[in-house]
Amino acid sequence: MTNDKLRKRVLSGIQPTGRLHLGNLIGAVENWVKLQDKYDCHFFIADLHALTTAYDETKGLKEDIKQVAIDLLSAGLDPKQCVIFKQSDLTEHSELHLLLSMITPVAWLERVPTYKSKIEELTGKDLGTYGFLGYPVLQAADILMYKADFVPVGQDQLPHIELTREIARRFNYFYREVFPVPKDLLTEFPVLPGTDGRKMSKSYGNTIAISDPEEVVRKKVSAMVTDPARIKKEDKGHPEVCSVYEYYKVFAKSEEGAVARECREARRGCVECKKQMAKILADYLAPIQERRKELEKHPGKVNAILADGAERARQVAGKTLQEAKQAMGLI
Ligand code: SF4
Repeated sequence: MTNDKLRKRVLSGIQPTGRLHLGNLIGAVENWVKLQDKYDCHFFIADLHALTTAYDETKGLKEDIKQVAIDLLSAGLDPKQCVIFKQSDLTEHSELHLLLSMITPVAWLERVPTYKSKIEELTGKDLGTYGFLGYPVLQAADILMYKADFVPVGQDQLPHIELTREIARRFNYFYREVFPVPKDLLTEFPVLPGTDGRKMSKSYGNTIAISDPEEVVRKKVSAMVTDPARIKKEDKGHPEVCSVYEYYKVFAKSEEGAVARECREARRGCVECKKQMAKILADYLAPIQERRKELEKHPGKVNAILADGAERARQVAGKTLQEAKQAMGLI
């Protein structure tokens, strides 16, 4: 195990909104697997965050948490290299969230761009809740709790990190210097389209789960949206508007050029193109699913990893919370 004291700390979380899909894998988890070798990484299953939008659908939450934990471990997170835990196992997160909410102006939260866009995206859902508005404060608590040096983010998450910095500065100004101001670790992830061409997302029902068996992957890929102008095989294609081609760019870079050429010259049919991609995905997922099967046989092992992770996380979180409470004059 690498000496964590010498490594910069990284913090990131993922919501348990069902089994992880290819978009999660490519957009976050594969990056985490790389980061764990270089940084002192704390990764958590953000079950409290899930409640900010899915507060009325908690029947399957426990199972979702378990499946996400299995997915993360199968995808390559190594508990010897990083700390993996469940957010709600540490009441410290909720407590620091409450303390930070005392100093966070409501106007700061109302102007976070994702606040309005998410409300528009999740139509039919009442998101006029205190918890949803306070989502970025909880996120700030998650990050500041571990005095993280870096937070891996995509472009759309930058305003959240900026808000975390503002909250940290405000706290340090009112009381005393407790929280270092975290930096973003901006990574450009490819945005993987879902089977219907929109961004892959559980809420759109267009995902390919990393645990989907080969036949399910084949079925989903065969139903994917391609170039709408290509009715017959003889029609020349436009790969740049095809979702399947996007997958070649991510999962089979070496074939990307040939696929585009053959598609444009109508030398490649969509059916065979999709079959080939389904096989590429199945091969890509095979080692992950192999590890998954092993972990499914030993649920006790997964629980023990999360319990150990919570214990290790608490050593840092408990200390920070004490410091924050002392600074605020509570103890
Ligand atoms: S041949 Fe392949 S890249 Fe071209 S439109 Fe069909 S599925 Fe897309």
